[in-house]
Amino acid sequence: MLPPITGLHHVTAMCGDPQRNIDFYAGVLGLRLVKRTVNFDDPSTYHLYYGDALGSPGTLLTFFAWPGARRGRRGTGQVAVTALRIPASSVSFWLDHLHTNQVVGVDVGKRDGATVISLADPDGMRLELVAIREPDDAKREEAVWQNSSVASEHAIFALHGVTAELAATPRTAALLTEVMGLQPVEPEAGRRQRFQTVDSGSSAPSQYIELTAAPDDRPGQVSVGFVHHIAWRAQDAATQAAWREKLLSLGHTVSPVIDRTYFHAIYFREPGGVLFEIATDPPGFTADGESLEALGSHLQLPPQYEGQRAALEAGLPPIHLPSGQASPVTLPTE
Ligand code: ZN
Repeated sequence: MLPPITGLHHVTAMCGDPQRNIDFYAGVLGLRLVKRTVNFDDPSTYHLYYGDALGSPGTLLTFFAWPGARRGRRGTGQVAVTALRIPASSVSFWLDHLHTNQVVGVDVGKRDGATVISLADPDGMRLELVAIREPDDAKREEAVWQNSSVASEHAIFALHGVTAELAATPRTAALLTEVMGLQPVEPEAGRRQRFQTVDSGSSAPSQYIELTAAPDDRPGQVSVGFVHHIAWRAQDAATQAAWREKLLSLGHTVSPVIDRTYFHAIYFREPGGVLFEIATDPPGFTADGESLEALGSHLQLPPQYEGQRAALEAGLPPIHLPSGQASPVTLPTE
């Protein structure tokens, strides 16, 4: 019997200009850039990883950078919103901070008992900051990025969850509950269905996926400003292999195990159209030899591309960590 999925490992989206992405996620949101590497499937483009100080699974938001690529289109079969957690006491700080940095699309409301700040990133990707009770303080102390542009008491500390918009939800709901072991949660209102991962203690508090049914919408297009896939956690390679067998036995098409240096990945498309990944917790972001202190400071290449480093570096646009104020952002049109 497989243990249930304990949480999200990462969410991966597509962005346009990589420097603008860094200015926003590191400069404005205060996340740590924990890895700058290339897209392993196209090493002429960046793959940027953000997270807490340690690059902990469950805190990771990553981007494939495609400067000049066209923006995606909102619709069904995709993740519509990605939510991050902030401390319950930090709502007014964040509203001020987002305003000061001219972040667009900012709105505030209540949902399921929590204050939720909506906003858009510079590519128009829809985000939420969900103000919830803080997890274990000792763990938080260790994981908060102390060089952040955001004071540690207000820091974003994890992914909260995602909202997926689907043409039809029943088969996805069945996969989440009957196969992956998530639990349905009764939302307060609306046409949403909400599911949470099993709470395995403070090291992995529950995370959420919400499904909204939009049978009349057209299918979305995943490109710049939209989530490419979401990854769930597997504690080790053996658990991942067991998941792969189980999904294959249920008729899903599942990729082979792929070595992403920092974790191993398998991919499959859930019935509603969203690309799911199951990623291993180990080995983590020091697996390439970059020290914990230096994470994100230099371009890291997987072994198969190390021989092409000079050519790849010459072709990639220069990027740098933000110093001081990030540039103003504007919301592109849908
Ligand atoms: Zn991934």
